[in-house]
Amino acid sequence: MDKLNDKSLLKQHSYINGKWHSGDAKFDVINPATDEVLTQVTNAGVAEAELAVKAAKDALKAWSGKSANERAVLLRNWFNLLMQHQDDLGRILTLEQGKPLAEAKGEIAYGASFIEWFAEEGKRVYGDTIPAPSSDKRIIVIKQPVGVVASITPWNFPNAMIARKAAAALAAGCTFVGRPATQTPLSALAMAELAERAGIPAGVFNIVIGEDAKGIGKVLTQHPDVAKFTFTGSTNVGKQLIAQGATSVKKVSMELGGNAPFIVFNDADIDAAVEGAVLSKYRNAGQTCVCTNRILVQQRVAKEFTEKFTAAVAKLMTGNGLDDSVFIGPMISSSAVDNVDKLVQDSIKAGAKLELGGARVQVVDGNFYRPTILSQVTNDMPIAANEIFGPVSPIISFETEQDAINIANDTEYGLAAYFYARDIGTIWRVAEGLDYGMVGINEGLISNAAAPFGGVKQSGSGREGSKYGLDDYLEIKYLCMGGLN
Ligand code: NAP
Repeated sequence: MDKLNDKSLLKQHSYINGKWHSGDAKFDVINPATDEVLTQVTNAGVAEAELAVKAAKDALKAWSGKSANERAVLLRNWFNLLMQHQDDLGRILTLEQGKPLAEAKGEIAYGASFIEWFAEEGKRVYGDTIPAPSSDKRIIVIKQPVGVVASITPWNFPNAMIARKAAAALAAGCTFVGRPATQTPLSALAMAELAERAGIPAGVFNIVIGEDAKGIGKVLTQHPDVAKFTFTGSTNVGKQLIAQGATSVKKVSMELGGNAPFIVFNDADIDAAVEGAVLSKYRNAGQTCVCTNRILVQQRVAKEFTEKFTAAVAKLMTGNGLDDSVFIGPMISSSAVDNVDKLVQDSIKAGAKLELGGARVQVVDGNFYRPTILSQVTNDMPIAANEIFGPVSPIISFETEQDAINIANDTEYGLAAYFYARDIGTIWRVAEGLDYGMVGINEGLISNAAAPFGGVKQSGSGREGSKYGLDDYLEIKYLCMGGLN
């Protein structure tokens, strides 16, 4: 943190109604690459969450009353500041989350791109006129902000998961209360500092940090002044939060877990598929919801793909994300490493063959797992049936196109899927046959602000980004004008 150009980006307290709320209770923020304490932050709780909801409610009238253009100017200021401070924000993110610095700076740009996108898209919240059933009436549809939006986000993208939600909410005219993950509060607080510098008024963007996830979560899902709750995280927690929100019939969006298949057909460009699989699997040490979770390879090219993929993965450097040569940083915690190792060892016992890795990195402190590849995997093994969330690739081989679709869809999840093929018939049939919200075709990196991000089945509901991303933050109101004859 000593190397930050702008040290005032390092904040330690919740940001509520334009003020930093200090307190006596603290918790540590740990660097997962070294297990060292980076700093301590004030441990806010239920009272602060309620204060933040009140602040957001109080700020709502003035913020929603601004024109879309006025909001766009402030959002654009925020975008510019995030990009100006990309280096510092990237460093903070690497230190608290672990991902390599280049990837962390990429996340800052990715998160900021949603703020830029929605600053513009907010100007295009069009209504509608509908022909009325009788000549004395007119039917008009307008769209209005839903109100106060509350969010809970995970540690794997400490900036972008908040940016994706707050950008759309603020552009639509809503105010926002965010509760970041306990392990990664610093990126969110730096965003709040820059929101303030951008001129976003007090109460419009609030960040509550605290270890009491359940208590704060209850406020954010049940408070009568919260109109909409948006969550990114695991499917299990998402289900609990949907149930909690039901008590006050909240509008909810859920961005939950995934089990992405990456399918390589016989006619695929194998080198391109290897490159796509490396990026899609190993970025963020395999800890993204859209990370490839299972690699399905058609039998004729299985040997060639496995050899080339293993050679490419063996070259990836694991280590501290501040080191330029590192491609795979630490995992978020020691228990996360243990969970991944258990999936690997249990699958080897069940018959999988270890091609590469398969163990903790022992030579350094921190929570590192060797990039790992398993072949001869079947879809019922633990490594294929669970969301791995670590740098491990299980390879399953298949015979026919229909087998691939069946295996790919044989999961409760439906977030992202990928496949590599050249035949246009295969491309259409597989694209339409996959039960997933997003499909990468000859492409391993698919997420951007212009495209709708989200899943089907137990991967969630709602979309973030794109022209569809505003809908989750808007209510449709029908106006019926009568007595016109
Ligand atoms: P998680 O355990 O569900 O935690 C996510 C957030 O929820 C954290 O802020 C956590 O707080 C909080 N939380 C946990 N239990 C809670 C409760 N009972 N009430 C209220 N809040 C609660 O998920 P994770 O393991 O951190 O994140 C990884 C998961 O997120 C994966 O399943 C991944 O696929 C998913 N994800 C999905 C997307 C998407 O867009 N679909 C994107 C990224 C990640 P604490 O930090 O205090 O535990």
